[in-house]
Amino acid sequence: MHKINFGSGPAALPQTVLQEASDSVREYQNSGLSILEIPHRGKLFDAILEESKSLVNELCELNDEYEILWLQGGRLQFAMIPMNFLNENETAAYIDSGHWAAEATDYAKQYGNIDIIASSKNDNYNHLPELPSNISNKYAYLYLTTNNTIYGTQWQSFPDTDVPLIADMSSDILSGERNYKNFSLFYAVAQKNIGPAGVTFIGVRKDFLNKIIRKNAPILDYRQQAFHNSVLNTPPVFAIYTSLLMLRWIKQTGMKTITENNRIKAQLLYEEIDRNNLFSGTVTQESHRSQMNVCFATKTKEMESAFLQLCKEYQITGIAGHRSVGGFRASLYNAVSIADVEKLVSLMRDFEKSYND
Ligand SMILES: *Cc1c(COP(=O)(O)O)cnc(C)c1O
Repeated sequence: MHKINFGSGPAALPQTVLQEASDSVREYQNSGLSILEIPHRGKLFDAILEESKSLVNELCELNDEYEILWLQGGRLQFAMIPMNFLNENETAAYIDSGHWAAEATDYAKQYGNIDIIASSKNDNYNHLPELPSNISNKYAYLYLTTNNTIYGTQWQSFPDTDVPLIADMSSDILSGERNYKNFSLFYAVAQKNIGPAGVTFIGVRKDFLNKIIRKNAPILDYRQQAFHNSVLNTPPVFAIYTSLLMLRWIKQTGMKTITENNRIKAQLLYEEIDRNNLFSGTVTQESHRSQMNVCFATKTKEMESAFLQLCKEYQITGIAGHRSVGGFRASLYNAVSIADVEKLVSLMRDFEKSYND
């Protein structure tokens, strides 16, 4: 039996996607080859790349103004962004809203000057930081993380500024409606909302690429990667293919339905956390709560291990909070169903009853 997976990444994938991916491992499209064997410079993989790009273009409503790239890990982007867009004598603005934002800031410091214009670090990131009312035009770019995977906070709106916006959307890409064209560059590791580990998707405005001045090795240069259509090196063919299956699934489900389902899932769980006396949410401001990563805790340590044990008995996995926060974190990414969340909620109710008996 397949477990209910609330893991924060690698995360749940729909059963239909897993089935088709595994069929393709046996043989891909009557080619006599496994998807793991097809060449990365050939018609079959070209078609996968082209379809994945056109689906991203359509789902994010980018109108062909963006280059769409499939590169590797999230942290590689922490480095590539300043390498490409921050020269030594320039300054970039960073918003420090959580672990990943802070790590990206540390990477960027190696290449230029950084101003942290807002931070909630002193409160262990249990809310979003307050933004300055005015953002200077001097910045090369403004970097932010749309959803803070570990702490369970999510931005609902973004700074209105002439400074180019760059965003890490790893844990909320295509989870709801958003104006992606507000961002000069946005990226997401696949292993949360749109596929398996091993690949990161990047959308970058074509005109923003002209700002690259620093000379980097081709593999670290977004322009070169775009010029070579993401196949400058041997790409992770299987990870890109599985991401394509996930993009097809998102399109088939429809962004409207995805948006509505994600809203319902988060509401179901937060309502129970707020109602149930044994649990409480860890984010201090309701409007900062993430729809994707719902962080909560029990009143005592003893209850924490008891509830974890109960989840295990009911085949619910991936729900322990990050070690820096503790408690629980249920990640409600696109592939997690409303029924999955209802099971968790009913288990929380049973748990409450068992304590009151
Ligand atoms: C998971 C995650 C990352 C890390 O990606 P890696 O592929 O492990 O480097 C970066 N940013 C955010 C917001 C994440 O949730």
